[in-house]
Amino acid sequence: MLGVRVNRYRMGEDMTRKKKTRATRDGAANYRGFREHPRYGQAPRITGLNPVEVRPIAPGMPIINFIEHSGQRIPNTAIQADAAKQKLVGPFGAVSHYFDLHCVCSNCELDFLFFAEEQKHWYEDLGLSLDKQCEYCVVCRHRYQTLKQKHRRYEELCRVSTLSEDEAFEMADCCLSLIEATMFLNPPTERVRMLLNRLPERRCRKLRKHLRAAEELA
Ligand SMILES: [Zn+2]
Repeated sequence: MLGVRVNRYRMGEDMTRKKKTRATRDGAANYRGFREHPRYGQAPRITGLNPVEVRPIAPGMPIINFIEHSGQRIPNTAIQADAAKQKLVGPFGAVSHYFDLHCVCSNCELDFLFFAEEQKHWYEDLGLSLDKQCEYCVVCRHRYQTLKQKHRRYEELCRVSTLSEDEAFEMADCCLSLIEATMFLNPPTERVRMLLNRLPERRCRKLRKHLRAAEELA
């Protein structure tokens, strides 16, 4: 057992930026403070499509509906959904359109948009269920994925009986990332020190710096 803590998302530097750039919610929001998505950008993507919700009240009646997430729908950003590709959930099953949604990241608390096209990708290409919400901004999601990979690799390396120099370096690096993300109940800084002591000094200067900072916080 590694004693890894469950709080997956307390991930460092962005915590200091929280609440500084929250946009107004009056419809004329300033999207400059929003988290930028590398593919979709920062501001809503206006399509001019703004369908009105129609709930089916009889079998066979056409359905027009949207994802009921906690995010705020942005008018005129709708795109058509392909219901046949969705995993159906809830009493009405599929949705007919996706809108850009204004959300707030549960980790760094920055505003971000969960884009209609992103939703189409999640719910039609990746096969995610329609009730799967987007709680985190793209940066926090990426950080979490990286941490997950480092955690997996760290556990693998824990099982290796004789570590090569490269593996010792990698293990120290993974371990420090997990310590910095506060994922250990008892940060194994001593273990990192032992790993670094096996490496040539020129190779581990940067990691030593991180280790000192981690020890100061411990
Ligand atoms: Zn975030």
